[in-house]
Amino acid sequence: MLQQLVNWFEENQRPLPWRTEYDPYNVWVSEVMLQQTQVETALPYYERFIRAFPTIEYLAKANEERVLALWAGLGYYRRAKNLLAAARVIVDRYDGNIPPEYDALIDLPGIGPYMAGAILSIAFNKPFPVVDGNVRRVLSRLYGWTEDSPKALWNAAARLVHEAEPRLVNQAVMELGAKVCSFKAPRCLVCPVQVSCVAFRTGMQDKIPPIKKRPVTVYVNLFAVIQRDRDLCLMKHVDGMWEFPMFSELPAGAFDQIGECRHSITHHRLRVTVFSGCIQENGFVWKDPSMLPISSLTRKILDQEHKKHRMHNSD
Ligand code: SF4
Repeated sequence: MLQQLVNWFEENQRPLPWRTEYDPYNVWVSEVMLQQTQVETALPYYERFIRAFPTIEYLAKANEERVLALWAGLGYYRRAKNLLAAARVIVDRYDGNIPPEYDALIDLPGIGPYMAGAILSIAFNKPFPVVDGNVRRVLSRLYGWTEDSPKALWNAAARLVHEAEPRLVNQAVMELGAKVCSFKAPRCLVCPVQVSCVAFRTGMQDKIPPIKKRPVTVYVNLFAVIQRDRDLCLMKHVDGMWEFPMFSELPAGAFDQIGECRHSITHHRLRVTVFSGCIQENGFVWKDPSMLPISSLTRKILDQEHKKHRMHNSD
């Protein structure tokens, strides 16, 4: 079964830039971007990031605002901050070489068991397992597991990397999950491991893996786009990104409602109402948002403001 899977990967893998030389820095950056993000979305960000910071030394010397600006739109900005912090430690402590040992990697900011396994197996071809959403789905279906057991998944993934080339095995399972064994419509008829798959034999693909039900919390927020000359009122969020001020009640001043938008962050759903207006208060920071790292929610709100201006100008 494993050999068919590896052969399939070698013939069908997507030609991704970090797969040409498996440089540890490139693999690491790609894996950080791919957490919670699809390859197609992450690819242009990856290319821009590597152009700006071609080596770990360039990244370590960068200022945080520039790193966040290149990350803007990918979300989960803590990833970018940890990447920068870890790059600085690697330059200081390991002379700019990513350490090929689990204990050293796991000690770095933002690196957990998945990331350490991905770097060690993909960049260094060492037999360390990885378990992400794709691996969970593929292995659970292959073995017919109707209940979740992280321990069983990690054990199964660990067995696989000892039976064939770790770099190929881990990427093959992840690629199969992304391209063939998808969540809603697995393409079992073209799957290279179909004959070994318990879920396929028993017709249980839509029951495996079990769906994790997370409570969805809905928040209703009011954001205001407040203008002074050409600059807008912005506030720096703890994650380093700039955003418009959020209110539970609008402050005194002349405000017009200019639109609404929705935004999701993991299992949080935001319903956002956007106001535009002017106030005389001091204490705000006035900035040109085109010069700053802004989140995708701030971008959506800004689009509402631009739409309002276009409509206003065409009246
Ligand atoms: Fe997934 Fe279907 Fe392949 Fe089984 S046969 S691993 S369910 S795509």
